Amino acid sequence: MPYISTRGDIKVSFSESILWGLTPEGGLLIPEKFPKYSKKDLEKMSKMNYKKLALAIMSYFVDDIPKKDLKLLIEKSYSKDLFGSEEITPIKEIGDGEYILELFNGPTLAFKDIALQFLGNVFDYILEKMDSTTNILTATSGDTGSAAIYGTRGKKRLRIFVLTPKDRMSKFQTAQMYSVIDPAVFNIAVDGTFDDCQDMVKKASEDIEFRNKYHIGYMNSINWTRVLAQIVYYAKGVFNIQKINNLPVDAEVDVSVPTGNFGDALAGYYAKKMGIPIGKIILATNENNVLDIFFKKGVYKIRNKEEVIRTDSPSMDITSASNFERYIYDIVDQDPKIVKDLWEQIKEKSFFDISKTPYFESVKNSGFFSYSTNKKERYKIIKQIYNQSGIIIDPHTANGVVAAEKYKRENIPVMCLATASPLKFEDSIKEALGKEVILKRPKQYRGIENKPQRFVMIHRGNVNSLKDFIKKHILIDHKS
Ligand SMILES: *Cc1c(COP(=O)(O)O)cnc(C)c1O
Repeated sequence: MPYISTRGDIKVSFSESILWGLTPEGGLLIPEKFPKYSKKDLEKMSKMNYKKLALAIMSYFVDDIPKKDLKLLIEKSYSKDLFGSEEITPIKEIGDGEYILELFNGPTLAFKDIALQFLGNVFDYILEKMDSTTNILTATSGDTGSAAIYGTRGKKRLRIFVLTPKDRMSKFQTAQMYSVIDPAVFNIAVDGTFDDCQDMVKKASEDIEFRNKYHIGYMNSINWTRVLAQIVYYAKGVFNIQKINNLPVDAEVDVSVPTGNFGDALAGYYAKKMGIPIGKIILATNENNVLDIFFKKGVYKIRNKEEVIRTDSPSMDITSASNFERYIYDIVDQDPKIVKDLWEQIKEKSFFDISKTPYFESVKNSGFFSYSTNKKERYKIIKQIYNQSGIIIDPHTANGVVAAEKYKRENIPVMCLATASPLKFEDSIKEALGKEVILKRPKQYRGIENKPQRFVMIHRGNVNSLKDFIKKHILIDHKS
């Protein structure tokens, strides 16, 4: 399967796509074609367990890794040991016709594990074949960084350098990362904010010579493999809900997605495009609602980082949505020239407006309902769901459930993606419920705050120290 760019400049194989971030023109990679499942395909797929389903869906897109190897990579990524059950993404009922798809049972208790466990394994596999190495460089405010750490640990060909804003993460999140004392994992604490960390990564990455010489790589959310891995659980969840309700395999299920960078929602859009019977994709944003505004008005206006609103659902606190371009590519009839033009406009004036073009009709017909929630609604729904089902949802998931209830249709079940474990947000839960509840931690996290931690400090803005540190600690290239 060739991968092409939303801005039209290149064509690469799946294996190459893994190693890429943006294309030279600043575009994103997408597969040239998508499968379209028939009812017969759906019948077959609905009987598969998670791993078999993953293989069935992924092998279409991953054609330069032998199927038996892909199977092993999937088995390694989605084991009961890592995800707590063979189901990987269990379904729970939270109300009448309302379900959550638990995506947070992986090693770091957030949905990013599902993509990053797989990406880490595939990355390592491809590097082994190329006899090469990569040093992942990333900044995080919490979730992504720890999922990336747990996705790279134990991999022979990978090292990871993660910049974190010191004293600005929860004790639990800090411990989750800093207590990993593997020789291949480097936690770098910065005396600043997440934006300071991200700036340092960006500045270091602008040095192309440094990047190439030291094999600096990325696992960020624009990586195609991450989107691919996420398509699988949409299919799995929809089939499960059909089974629970005795519905045929082509009966529609609505899905609701708490959205940040539009990676998860994009995977749902692709799943629908491929013929998984998804009705509406309910797109939930928090107060950082650039996408909600787009879907309502046809104007995509990115914000600058001073305008980001800090919320109880921090992994959705974004100023622009890095995967959105892939969706727009489809909207503008897959014309890279138009994509390029729209993103030129963003560069110039921070927005584009397609409200008065036929493209906005395509947006309206593309299957989305969007809603932006506020804290009051989120906390109210956390309490309501707890009272009616005994299930505690986290503030990210709450965004999706609020939006789902705004849209809810008679007789069509809705699947709300549960993206983080409530364990990670004990303070919000306490505030929402108005009382303390004891959440039972998985074994590996009991007393984690008291484990020994390892990190180095690098002063905010000191890009040279960062580069020096990386140079000293990179994985030596096997070839040289
Ligand atoms: C990353 C994240 C999101 C947002 O996902 P996107 O793919 O960026 O839209 C939502 N909830 C949690 C818990 C996350 O970690």
